[in-house]
Amino acid sequence: MARLELDNVVREYRRGQQSVRALNGVSLSLSGGQLVSVLGPSGSGKSTMLHLMGALDSPSSGRVLLDGTDLGGLNDDRLADLRRRRVGFIFQFFNLLPSLTAWENVAVPRLLDGTRLADVRDEAMDLLQRVGLGERADHRPNEMSGGQMQRVAVARALIMDPVVILADEPTGNLDSRTGKELLDLLAGIAHDEAGRSVVMVTHSMEAALRSDRAVLLVDGQVAADGPPDDVVAAVV
Ligand code: ADP
Ligand code: ADP
Repeated sequence: MARLELDNVVREYRRGQQSVRALNGVSLSLSGGQLVSVLGPSGSGKSTMLHLMGALDSPSSGRVLLDGTDLGGLNDDRLADLRRRRVGFIFQFFNLLPSLTAWENVAVPRLLDGTRLADVRDEAMDLLQRVGLGERADHRPNEMSGGQMQRVAVARALIMDPVVILADEPTGNLDSRTGKELLDLLAGIAHDEAGRSVVMVTHSMEAALRSDRAVLLVDGQVAADGPPDDVVAAVV
């Protein structure tokens, strides 16, 4: 089971003479096997937290630990390696490469260490089957719906077999029914035998209610954390 911990994390941004505390003393411990939603108004620190969890950014103070390893103790090469191998990212606007087919997009993260495209095809095809897109493998993004593109992105996030999957508004650009299907897929991934942590930032209460745990950020602090029903009740 993956374990992701934030220990009294502060992230300060400087703006001229002033500084803004995007995160102001956040402590959280996420165990694998769960779909966790992160809620909060604009500017509450959600993206900052997701970036720290994915080692895309580092805290001003406090610690971020993945399976007990303090990311602050790793050099840039180790961090780059960790981002690539241990974390999968999913974005609101899918971020697929338009000139590549679905299966080629899924394969991309594997190419950076010199693996040849043809050698990843079977794995990419298996993942496309898993996300329900087997018969779209040879389509390009402009031949797919938003829901289908996001499924390709989910398959791409899985190809390195990461322990953590971070999703930034994954349903933000999908209609309600397609969004629900995507959430079912993410929940299924969180609940499979791999024991991954799946964390998604969302503005959608509906999405939050389909997660296993919800964290509400307000002004860079955890204002509520627990069963989504309770946390959503605290928001509305
Ligand atoms: P944006 O980040 O795009 O500016 P808003 O912050 O205005 O979006 O909120 C988007 C939706 O989320 C609105 O419908 C709003 O009512 C709802 N919302 C309000 N409060 C919260 C909250 N604490 N967490 C999540 N969503 C919220
Ligand atoms: P959210 O994702 O909840 O909308 P963010 O994490 O994007 O919140 O931002 C939290 C706070 O940090 C906001 O006040 C935002 O303006 C500020 N902030 C975020 N990124 C930067 C940055 N690169 N430089 C300066 N301030 C930033």
